[in-house]
Amino acid sequence: MAKCALYPGSFDTLTLGHLNIVARSARLFDRLVVGVTDNPRKRPLFRRDERVEVLRGECARFPNVSVSPFDGLTITYAQSIAASVIVRGLRAVTDFEYELQIAIANHHLDPAIETLFLPSEPAFSFLSSSVVKEIARLGGDVRSFVPAAVAAALEDRFAREPDA
Ligand code: ADP
Repeated sequence: MAKCALYPGSFDTLTLGHLNIVARSARLFDRLVVGVTDNPRKRPLFRRDERVEVLRGECARFPNVSVSPFDGLTITYAQSIAASVIVRGLRAVTDFEYELQIAIANHHLDPAIETLFLPSEPAFSFLSSSVVKEIARLGGDVRSFVPAAVAAALEDRFAREPDA
């Protein structure tokens, strides 16, 4: 049976670290769905449809990857697309406790769906959406951290709304 995985996240903003996880997961599964949601713990800079559009552009080169927005529980969405695996990236120990809590809760909700943690590529292990946004807000060059389309969108956003 074709193996489908879900890579969920808020992707606000998309970084090369996220894309590295997409590329590596796409090799492991027949089908990978990148699910774009809103994290209630974070206030997004970009609307969800903007994040979906950017991801679709960057993921177009992977034939088995699709991008979709979703609401509600990740596990419910994983069930609805028949994903048997949820992929998450781990940068450092600091990610681990939160990710482990979520993974255990998801396992409890549906033991048939496994969470797979992929360790960040060392080059991206310091890279977070919030650091990228902070650098861009202060006028720094983020082109080595994010795809060109994201760098342009950040520049445009902070030029129009410096306090966004
Ligand atoms: P969420 O708001 O759900 O945490 P994020 O967009 O911040 O979503 O992250 C989505 C996933 O990508 C998470 O599993 C996160 O650990 C992972 N991730 C974020 N940045 C990196 C990176 N630089 N390298 C590897 N994985 C990353």
